Amino acid sequence: MAGLGAAYKLRNEGVSSRIYDKESDFGGHTRSYRFENGFVFDDGPHISFTRDKRIQDLLAENVGGEFEVLQAKVNNHWKGHWIKHPAQCNLHGLPTELVAKILEDFVEAKYGEEREIKNYRDWLYAGFGETFSRTFPMEYGLKYHTTGAENMTTDWLGPRIYQPNLSEVFMGALSDVTADVHYVDHFRYPSRNGFVSYLNRFAEESDIALDHEAISIDPSSRRVTFSNGSEVEYEGLISSIALPRLIPLIRGAPDDVSAAAERLACTQCVMVNVGVAREDISEATWTYFYDRDYIFTRLSFPHLMSPHNVPQGTSSLQAEIYFSDKYRPLDRRPEECIEPVLRDLQRCGILREDDTILHTNVHVTPFANVIFDLDRPKALSLVHGYLDDVGIGYCGRYGEWAYHWTDESFKSGEKAAEKLLE
Ligand SMILES: Cc1cc2nc3c(=O)[nH]c(=O)nc-3n(C[C@H](O)[C@H](O)[C@H](O)COP(=O)(O)OP(=O)(O)OC[C@H]3O[C@@H](n4cnc5c(N)ncnc54)[C@H](O)[C@@H]3O)c2cc1C
Repeated sequence: MAGLGAAYKLRNEGVSSRIYDKESDFGGHTRSYRFENGFVFDDGPHISFTRDKRIQDLLAENVGGEFEVLQAKVNNHWKGHWIKHPAQCNLHGLPTELVAKILEDFVEAKYGEEREIKNYRDWLYAGFGETFSRTFPMEYGLKYHTTGAENMTTDWLGPRIYQPNLSEVFMGALSDVTADVHYVDHFRYPSRNGFVSYLNRFAEESDIALDHEAISIDPSSRRVTFSNGSEVEYEGLISSIALPRLIPLIRGAPDDVSAAAERLACTQCVMVNVGVAREDISEATWTYFYDRDYIFTRLSFPHLMSPHNVPQGTSSLQAEIYFSDKYRPLDRRPEECIEPVLRDLQRCGILREDDTILHTNVHVTPFANVIFDLDRPKALSLVHGYLDDVGIGYCGRYGEWAYHWTDESFKSGEKAAEKLLE
């Protein structure tokens, strides 16, 4: 997405460019996989919820106006309870003592002594009080980010965690009828062939050399060498390669920069994709799972994104399980995740014992979500400073090392192209 954003900008400025990608198909994290049995899965659940009209229009044009517009239906699963999202405004039905303690802490957090905020845990305590924070976002965060809230900064939050007022919290505790306040309300998704269809036209209009894995970059002679033996001289270079992989490719990168790149942490995601011979496995478009003894962190349902993602009369789901080299290394072969996923799907009632499973496969994404740990700011500034010094542009989720959605990644590519032209 970022590479295509950079090429798009350069094209519009009348500058020719070439994209090199190590894979044999384009799309990076926005790739979609169509299986012969008719099931389509994305590389992690992907929907477009951009509010940027220009990007909305570009994506709509790319699929010839053939996209679905869907309302997000999000819920949570915690100790056998199905809770509307976000939990902080929907406590109704949870154990009374827990709700009472959450409300007491919430009031204390709002009106008690102001505390200094040094990390994500402090931010949660200040916004929601200790009981809610410890029961919900800190438990979820441990599964999703693979490290504790006390080890994280707060600059990734944006609109991601809804901060209700007291009245919303009390209403949600006393009544099961509450307003929808998720930061994604409506979203779009291509009708056919998965999320990657949104990129087709960008790709057609760009010059892309596939199967070109960069293995060495020499900024002094301005040359990139690829694993297939080819070499190219560049006038300007922009990279969307993940920084911990990019720095080791650069000839002459100093030791402190290499060490800083190694400190940058990211989650890996094992995705277990499942096709089921029944249409009604879920009403929610996605569900968050808090309990540690459930292997997955989040479930999404591709058949609800577009009916063309599944054969007629069937449904599908994608389970995400997170690991990280730095905090929770992958402790099994990815295929070994399938059985516990199916077991937990039955345990929470999404699958029935007599369900016929039509499809399973596992997909691993080595770079999923950047971890905003306390090491990140200093390490990132050193790495970016070095890249600026040697004239290598960086963009995208893993070049900027940020929490970019697809629209932001595309615009990050455009911005890097602009900087290069300057
Ligand atoms: C689980 C998950 C769910 C997500 N859900 C959403 C969502 O619902 N909506 C949304 O908008 N965004 C979502 N995102 C974010 C979205 O995936 C990213 O913003 C976007 O895809 C990042 O694009 P990019 O171009 O920056 O990086 P990438 O897609 O990673 O592109 C990097 C490219 O570099 C290539 N490459 C790497 N190394 C080399 C090398 N040595 N030589 C040559 N090529 C190389 C790769 O093959 C790849 O094509 C999600 C991300 C994840 C992980």
